[in-house]
Amino acid sequence: MSFVHISPSTKQAAVKLYWQTGNVKKCAEQFGASRNTIYDWVRLAEQRLESMFLDSTPGKRAPSVDSRNQALQSQLDHVLDAYHNISQGPRPLPQNLARCPKCHSTALLRNGRVRSKQHGLLQRLWCRQCDVSVYVDLKKTL
Ligand SMILES: [Zn+2]
Repeated sequence: MSFVHISPSTKQAAVKLYWQTGNVKKCAEQFGASRNTIYDWVRLAEQRLESMFLDSTPGKRAPSVDSRNQALQSQLDHVLDAYHNISQGPRPLPQNLARCPKCHSTALLRNGRVRSKQHGLLQRLWCRQCDVSVYVDLKKTL
């Protein structure tokens, strides 16, 4: 018995014919192969088909680790960039952070600095509407 190379496309045609007709004897005769060989090709083809359908589950595929890493890295770069810009930008003055305890307005007027024993140098702010003074610690914010 001699081995003849049979091309994949011929094997595929033989398998298709078998699926169409279900006649293994006819396939074997037409393609010059033994019936066992035809059965082998059919078995191979059916295995491949099944695994192919297992791989192609419907729905969106989970992104690969690589693409997720890239996305996270660019997010991190973006956040670090924003953080850098904030940390390098001008800091808000302490009086801009203070609020009037009565009307909660931030429109306070500077009204001199006061040195206290307990807190050191304080900026005194004054709410014109309520006539209330607010003290802001200069050390903590500068
Ligand atoms: Zn006020």
